[in-house]
Amino acid sequence: MLIATNAIVLKRIPYSDTSLICRIFTEDWGKVTILAKGVLRPKNVTGALLEPVNHIHIQYYNKSNRDIQILKNANFVQQYPKIRNDLSRIILGLAIVEIIDKATLDCNPYPVLYRLGWRVLDKLNDETQNFWLVFAFFLYQLSIRMGFMPNLKNCSKCLSEMSQGGIDNYTGELVCAKCVTQSQILLEENSFTLLQKITGLHLDDLQTLTIEKNSIFNPIRFLDIFTSFHIEGLKRVRSMEMVRNLINEENNKST
Ligand SMILES: [Zn+2]
Repeated sequence: MLIATNAIVLKRIPYSDTSLICRIFTEDWGKVTILAKGVLRPKNVTGALLEPVNHIHIQYYNKSNRDIQILKNANFVQQYPKIRNDLSRIILGLAIVEIIDKATLDCNPYPVLYRLGWRVLDKLNDETQNFWLVFAFFLYQLSIRMGFMPNLKNCSKCLSEMSQGGIDNYTGELVCAKCVTQSQILLEENSFTLLQKITGLHLDDLQTLTIEKNSIFNPIRFLDIFTSFHIEGLKRVRSMEMVRNLINEENNKST
């Protein structure tokens, strides 16, 4: 059966001298692995389309008893030059697609997550956007879509209202400053306020939020720990190491 669908490219592995095996996250069929024959030959333009982060339209021959499907052709839905030309943006873009890859199962459609993915990548490609805010928005929305919503108001132990706190190591939930024993992160009042603002905003309204430089890093660290704790597969996202290094560098620059 010939299938036509839009897709986000998650990963590519060279296969033989001229071909690629790609993992793509399709709108209609979820995560699919495809073989793209001969696309690395000189003059072939499809190879450049099959780069992680790209948003493409694709046609492939599908056989349900086969693990790898065969590419027919591909075109761009959206090119992301601003992501590709900025080291920070490409690191975040690669983290986003690797997170989607690790958080999802093969051949299981996740239309809401697919939409979140390309819409966030579109924003990451927009130079007027604060890319850290976009990334924090992605982590929070991903967590909700996968069924885990952090309670940012009340301590998960004593239920009192929180203005600062940390993560309980056993439940992975937020606890207030009194209930916290050992936490990988301590969230101060500003981080709580910023997190609450991000959770209340639509992606298109993210731009209306003005933040102090570096105030976004603790919320991102929290979302990183929270999603890694709750969503299966996210403990092994290699590109998140690069994101963490980037955050540390940015922090050191300003102190
Ligand atoms: Zn408490």
